[in-house]
Amino acid sequence: MRDVGEARGCFIDGKWIPTAETFAVVDPATGREVGRASDATPAEARAAIGAAEGAFAEWAATPAAERGAVLRRIAAELERAADDIVSLIVAEQGKPIGQARFEVAYAGQWLEWYAEEARRTYGEIVPPPTATKRLLVQRRPLGVALAITPWNFPVAMIARKLAPALAAGCPLVVKPAEQTPLSPAAFIDAVDRAGVPAGVVNFVTASDPTRISDTLVGDPRVRKITFTGSTEVGKLLLRQSADHLARVSLELGGQAPFIVFDDADLDAATAGVIASKFQVNGQSCLCANRIFVQEGVVESFADRLTAAAGELVVGPGTDPEVAVGPLIDEAGYDKVCAHVADAVERGARVLVGGDRRQGGGLQQGYFFAPTVLGDCDDDMLVAREETFGPVAPLLTFTDEAEVVRRANDSPFGLAAYCYTRDLGRAHRVADALEFGLVGINDPLPASPVAPFGGFKESGLGREGGHDGIEAFLETKLVSIVC
Ligand code: NAD
Repeated sequence: MRDVGEARGCFIDGKWIPTAETFAVVDPATGREVGRASDATPAEARAAIGAAEGAFAEWAATPAAERGAVLRRIAAELERAADDIVSLIVAEQGKPIGQARFEVAYAGQWLEWYAEEARRTYGEIVPPPTATKRLLVQRRPLGVALAITPWNFPVAMIARKLAPALAAGCPLVVKPAEQTPLSPAAFIDAVDRAGVPAGVVNFVTASDPTRISDTLVGDPRVRKITFTGSTEVGKLLLRQSADHLARVSLELGGQAPFIVFDDADLDAATAGVIASKFQVNGQSCLCANRIFVQEGVVESFADRLTAAAGELVVGPGTDPEVAVGPLIDEAGYDKVCAHVADAVERGARVLVGGDRRQGGGLQQGYFFAPTVLGDCDDDMLVAREETFGPVAPLLTFTDEAEVVRRANDSPFGLAAYCYTRDLGRAHRVADALEFGLVGINDPLPASPVAPFGGFKESGLGREGGHDGIEAFLETKLVSIVC
């Protein structure tokens, strides 16, 4: 891992600029400082926007094929730096090394996909209302984009925004989460080595987002805000950006139902819950949060899931045997404890886990045992709010209509999962679920090639697929009298 003892600085107009103040980044597995990051001021945030604004005209005029070539070079540099970046993700985020490797590879897929998609921002020629006119509809880049990203996928969430922004012709200012600024800085180093023109990608970090967020979000030069994080902060950014009508894309929280019908392949459904629930230690917006199991198979499914969750190895992400790392911080740990305590108080049974893991050198980190709760109901906190931790609550249902109604009874609508071998039922349930992504016998439905985003309070707009680049484009009509 490269030396991250010294803060890298902010990356503005093609140069790393040191800041007067820095802040510590902590390993959630050990509580130890693993590096320092730069604490940007409003002046540095403004300079980053200024650099992006200065780069806009030339980048927008760069042929799409060349923009795509730049994205491919970034992907190549990311791959070259993968080992370093993986180590940094494990050190500051805590996820197991295999999941960190997957994250970096996944980030590369976004860059590769939009390298191709850059060429496909077609316009239209519209039949004119009179013979003397020609009407051309063009797709133009919006302008400076601001990306604010979370800590659970510190590199992939940046790639998911940077790739379509650059492909569309928009320069970017990136602000990562304060818990995980080191792996993003290493990614930006790769962007720099790829020869991205100065000002096209800029990067600012802060110990407290509110130090620079008003400056970034309130600047009228910012024409696009793309945010991934909590619903609460997403709503705040939407309100703050209203004054200058910046276009806003929001990827927010979820409360995913995972429905297991009695005709499902129960082994596949068990593996699906393990893959969905315990990736990134339950700290993903796509995680299964409400596991609805049809009466008749509840016991056999609970036995399978309890056995599989009990086998997951908990520990620091550096150990290749580990499947579940630490929670990100004390607040995250406290929320998980509160959700489990609430469920138990209301009658849930702890089938496995349910407490902190402290032995074997784990006492300094926020390790929580993979947990399965039986006899849960819809009123418990685990069923109403994102737990963001390794807790799988089991709820029982009787029939299809009932489970669809209960699954939809949430202000969130990001991902939903359904396991069944009945094709008709799979289609009916997929149609009825009010969610942006539905995985039928598929626990991992997200891909750069397809639209990703939430219904209801889970977000606005889509990332991925053709929709992802549309989010950085504006429509212009050119009317010519001939
Ligand atoms: P968060 O909203 O606290 O933080 C996300 C980002 O917003 C960070 O960069 C943070 O510094 C910044 N931020 C926080 N307060 C801010 C403010 N007042 N002004 C401006 N910026 C501010 O979320 P989190 O805890 O880091 O991430 C977890 C949440 O993200 C969960 O709800 C999860 O579901 C969601 N998430 C959603 C997706 C998705 O694609 N839908 C993906 C990953 C995570």
